[in-house]
Amino acid sequence: MIELAGLTKRYGEKVAVDDLTFTVRPGIVTGFLGPNGAGKSTTMRMILGLDHPTAGDVRIDGRHYHELTNPLTYIGALLDAKAVHGGRTARNHLLCLAQSNGIPARRVREVLETVGLTAVARKKAKGFSLGMSQRLGIAGALLGDPRILMFDEPVNGLDPEGIHWIRGLMKSLAAEGRTVFVSSHLMSEMALTADHLVVIGQGRLLADTSMADFVADNAHARVRIRTPDRERLLDALHEAGITAVEAGGGVLEVEGGDSERIGELAARHQVVLHELSVRQSSLEEAFMRLTAEAVEYHAHSAPPAGPWGADGDTTTSRTVAQAVARTTAEG
Ligand code: ADP
Ligand code: MG
Repeated sequence: MIELAGLTKRYGEKVAVDDLTFTVRPGIVTGFLGPNGAGKSTTMRMILGLDHPTAGDVRIDGRHYHELTNPLTYIGALLDAKAVHGGRTARNHLLCLAQSNGIPARRVREVLETVGLTAVARKKAKGFSLGMSQRLGIAGALLGDPRILMFDEPVNGLDPEGIHWIRGLMKSLAAEGRTVFVSSHLMSEMALTADHLVVIGQGRLLADTSMADFVADNAHARVRIRTPDRERLLDALHEAGITAVEAGGGVLEVEGGDSERIGELAARHQVVLHELSVRQSSLEEAFMRLTAEAVEYHAHSAPPAGPWGADGDTTTSRTVAQAVARTTAEG
């Protein structure tokens, strides 16, 4: 279990992590979702004691990271796959980690097998592709057989086979009762792996919810209708107490997914339909809405220096805002 309480990190004026309170529970995959620059990596570094919180607290099974003896046997993490001494072989890298953490050397062979690097165990890490480096980083995380695992954007730069493998690995680790905390900036990725979702934007907590609830709350269905008998259909719908809205391009939309009822209604009134389809609004859109609200909040409460703040993070806020503007324009 990982417990964050009011966790905050400031870099000068910049609030990278803003008063985060949530708990990451065992037995499930918890997705940590936020646009680039939201504060995911900073949060994960603080969990591992690599960064000092400006305020607040974070505990691993009730203790601070630095209070853990042989911490790799409690929590394993993949933060930066390329943060490996390139001159070492995969096997030596893991042997060094094992030695300095009181982990038996036989674990090295086991984890190399698990991540599929046995064949290149004696090759130097500097010649590894990003995918191989990710696998080596994951081997390091698994080395101490920890009950808690944390992966920062593990699918970045992986090929489809590698992505598929990592998803399966995270699920099986959770199924073994472990705590699995994984970050991503992609809603689509989380939708496929996470049982629980923690969403942050601009360092702030935006949602802490089960994936099932997030889907139920956000994946609204609507029925799309195209018809040459527009007025007659509108009358029939109105009579039946169904509200249709104009969706542009001659398309009508009705909230909910009850296409059968609309189809039957149209048949009874002998209205010709050119299209009758159910559309799910995407989870990506819901995520965009959530994070756009965070951008809005900060834009209004930002110092007079400029609505987007003064540092290199400006692109993130703009990108989200532009993406939302695009979505709106397209929709
Ligand atoms: P994420 O991992 O969600 O993309 P990060 O945690 O890397 O976000 O960054 C959050 C914010 O903190 C960003 O605006 C980033 O520029 C800033 N930041 C991160 N590390 C530092 C640092 N060492 N010094 C100054 N600003 C930092
Ligand atoms: Mg990051």
